[in-house]
Amino acid sequence: MTIITDKLGRPLQDLRISVTDRCNFRCTYCMPREIFGKDYAFMPREQLLSFEEIERLARIFVELGVKKIRLTGGEPLLRRNLPDLIEKLVAIEGLEDIGLTTNGALLGKYAERLKAAGLERVNVSLDALDDTLFQSINDSGVSSEKVLRGIKKAQEVGLEVKVNMVVKKGMNDQQVVPMAAYFKEQGIALRYIEFMDVGQSNGWDFTQVVTKQEIFQLLSEQFELEPVDPAYVGEVAKRYRYKGTDTEVGFITSVSESFCSTCTRARIAADGRFYTCLFATNGFDLKQLIRSGVDDDALRAAIVPTWQQRKDRYSDERTEETVKNRKKIEMSYIGG
Ligand code: SAM
Ligand code: SF4
Ligand code: SF4
Repeated sequence: MTIITDKLGRPLQDLRISVTDRCNFRCTYCMPREIFGKDYAFMPREQLLSFEEIERLARIFVELGVKKIRLTGGEPLLRRNLPDLIEKLVAIEGLEDIGLTTNGALLGKYAERLKAAGLERVNVSLDALDDTLFQSINDSGVSSEKVLRGIKKAQEVGLEVKVNMVVKKGMNDQQVVPMAAYFKEQGIALRYIEFMDVGQSNGWDFTQVVTKQEIFQLLSEQFELEPVDPAYVGEVAKRYRYKGTDTEVGFITSVSESFCSTCTRARIAADGRFYTCLFATNGFDLKQLIRSGVDDDALRAAIVPTWQQRKDRYSDERTEETVKNRKKIEMSYIGG
């Protein structure tokens, strides 16, 4: 297996694939309805990479060192026959791990099929337990109860579940402790994600971020936490466990303690563009190349130098200036 590294010595090890730019939620911080409304032009189906195209690219990325693939979106469970894609990916030799990030609304319906296809783990995003608040965030009439039922179903069929909560000041910070208490009781790992300035639609500024330190402080008033060593170099979440239990709580500190120096992640957006950073402005059009009928060598010859030239460290360098002026890709499209 080849190992390719970028300009900062970071190997290519993880790949996130956005399988659709569509979503059944309109989270106010991600796809606000004013922008992603009835008239919004989502990608036509034929412009999405097909499962065969995704599989072929995934194989090449794995040959180049990728060990983990995460499927995301938009809402990946809206992509028709997603379990068929999982089946194809599971068969790739050398791939160690496949994950899926979902809002959980359709998890109850699909959990069994996902597990049967070979998926082992899901990350479910849930920003509040309080139903009124949750529905005001997702702006699409889905109850927190429905997501919780999806989580239960996933556990019943044997999927490992982690829950992700984006914390935004004034939006859901009052849910930090209730979420911890609930998922501690359930024995499910919860990870708090600092609100980031992804895309152009979410009106982000520094004052809306609730930092790891602030969340930790809130948790410490209720629970005794002890640090857990990282499982591998470059692990993104800072992990803790509730003392006396195996249940973990983690923090994705993209803003307050950036982790660009160990970022080994590539992304393929819904339209088949290859991005080397969540905050990238340009991506290499792998779909156009693949559809021009080239062989695998030509695809490799595009992917390798793109990674080797990578210098991205946006979160390390984030300033008022970059937040305002950089033209970033929407989260629902590049894949969170
Ligand atoms: N729809 C799926 C879901 O919500 O899990 C997958 C895609 S979504 C873009 C992936 C993750 O990104 C979700 O956990 C979401 O909360 C998170 N996210 C979206 N916008 C964000 C932002 N501005 N800052 C931090 N996380 C964000
Ligand atoms: Fe959809 Fe996920 Fe974005 Fe919410 S965070 S709008 S569920 S893509
Ligand atoms: Fe990786 Fe870019 Fe995020 Fe830094 S800002 S951790 S380089 S995706």
